[in-house]
Amino acid sequence: MADSFDLVVVGAGPGGYVAAIRASQLGLKTALIEREKQLGGTCLRVGCIPSKALLETSELYEKSKKQFAERGLVVSGISVDIAQMMKHKQGVVNTLDMGIQGLLKKNKVERIVGHGTLKGKGLIEVTGPTPVTLTAKSILIATGSVSSTLPGIEPDGDRIGTSTEALSWPEVPKHLVVIGAGVIGLELGTVWRRLGAEVTVLEYLPRILPGLDSQIAAEAQKTFEKQGIKFKLGAKVKSARSAAGRCVVEVEGAELVECDRVLLAVGRKPCTDQLGLAEAGVQTDKRGFIQVNAGYQTTAAGIYAVGDVIGGAMLAHKAEEEGIACVEKIATGYGHVNYGAIPGVIYTAPEIATVGASEDALKEADIKYKVGRFSFAANGRARAAGHPEGFVKVLADAETDRVLGVHMIGPHVGELIAEAAVAMEFGASSEDIARCCHAHPTLSEAVKEAAMAVDKRAIHS
Ligand code: NAD
Repeated sequence: MADSFDLVVVGAGPGGYVAAIRASQLGLKTALIEREKQLGGTCLRVGCIPSKALLETSELYEKSKKQFAERGLVVSGISVDIAQMMKHKQGVVNTLDMGIQGLLKKNKVERIVGHGTLKGKGLIEVTGPTPVTLTAKSILIATGSVSSTLPGIEPDGDRIGTSTEALSWPEVPKHLVVIGAGVIGLELGTVWRRLGAEVTVLEYLPRILPGLDSQIAAEAQKTFEKQGIKFKLGAKVKSARSAAGRCVVEVEGAELVECDRVLLAVGRKPCTDQLGLAEAGVQTDKRGFIQVNAGYQTTAAGIYAVGDVIGGAMLAHKAEEEGIACVEKIATGYGHVNYGAIPGVIYTAPEIATVGASEDALKEADIKYKVGRFSFAANGRARAAGHPEGFVKVLADAETDRVLGVHMIGPHVGELIAEAAVAMEFGASSEDIARCCHAHPTLSEAVKEAAMAVDKRAIHS
């Protein structure tokens, strides 16, 4: 059986399913191949969404224990029911999966269940419940990424796991060792710490959250340490093994670390298994990422790629933007992503959010800049909410005042960063932000004040 389409998308993560919907809106006859039963990719099944469900729930638990009493809320006997917590998390995932199914139907995207393999020009073979070969004018690869492993550490699917396992552990570990102080390690480390685990993070580099503005990262580390997370920096993990419910982690030049669970969170690598890339003439770089040009075209005519599989920031929203830009370019000749205004959010407590250049990057590039900083300690809404920690930092060009980067650590900054991203997309100056009226009392006033502080005219500091 063969069926022909204008566009066949491989992978139903945020890059793939969003691209398929947009392509259909633009009049392309579109099919979407996905081998997993659930749609939404890593982000929905075992990533962003389930981790946020657990972060929200564990935050409620911690608040009930540490903040309720001082506010006169008397609760007693609060305890954790992990099975129910996991059931709630899965319910969120299932509902959103159904939502994507509905969107595909509404937009007339044909969903095909199975594994897609490139088979020569415009041909793609699907192995699965109903094997089929599809013909397509264009093929879009959006197969995402999988967890990286380390030599000497083999995740056993139980005691030693990646983020996938750490989202479903059946009980709170007594002592959790996290390998890697990146985004995954700190988000999931936060979940299990709040639920009662002792958490030790082993990080190879001398700092946490590499790539993040170093002032924000230093502030984050201080706060996480106060919360009880232990960091061992400059720790190169050599091996981890488990036996009889215990794990032993070996760190180069240091004592063995014993624990009962290990979370391996040392990055992710492109997912390109059995895609038939080489046979189809699709080149990858030496780390396995598919190489594309500005229009997301691979080295093979008619084959495109977006999202984690092409490298860059491994973020669902970056993949979505690329998917949309790619199919708009195919359908209309135009499509563009502004990589300078892609926000990043880390959902720890406090949250961390960032867009544009870090202060470190500006220094390295020898770009002259001005800094405005405002602390949430002087923000009424943050005080009332009981979250006065953190600050907003606005970096603006020393001559033109154009905003070059905005970095935040504090309450709900994952939401506040949207303002900064929109401002940067519109080429705003710090004065533009400073002169916009922000409602009082809101956390967003901290963004306005930080923008005012660029010109040394903040009112509340
Ligand atoms: P990461 O790249 O953010 O961090 C991995 C860390 O592991 C680094 O700090 C690295 O130095 C360290 N490391 C590497 N080898 C080590 C060793 N032998 N011993 C000790 N430490 C070692 O990777 P991640 O946290 O696994 O996340 C993977 C990707 O997923 C990232 O690109 C991340 O941005 C993305 N992600 C994003 C979000 C979000 O946006 N909120 C959430 C989860 C994941």
